[in-house]
Amino acid sequence: MLTCREMTRVLADYLDGTMPAEDRLVLDRHLDACPSCRAFLKTYEATIRLTGMLPCEEMPEDLKARLAAFARGLAAR
Ligand SMILES: [Zn+2]
Repeated sequence: MLTCREMTRVLADYLDGTMPAEDRLVLDRHLDACPSCRAFLKTYEATIRLTGMLPCEEMPEDLKARLAAFARGLAAR
């Protein structure tokens, strides 16, 4: 069974579409059952969208901090 900690680690692959279909299925199932990871995914996607609009590749510090805090919260569950 996929844990929330593993989930956050593979989320980048999930979003950029490089993940094998069967792995995506496992993640989809976890997302269905886990509101925390759904919220994390939403934050993650929003971050990618926001940073994609910025001229530089660097993630804004406040977003980075929020994302890190969120990931720490998940890992501590
Ligand atoms: Zn989860």
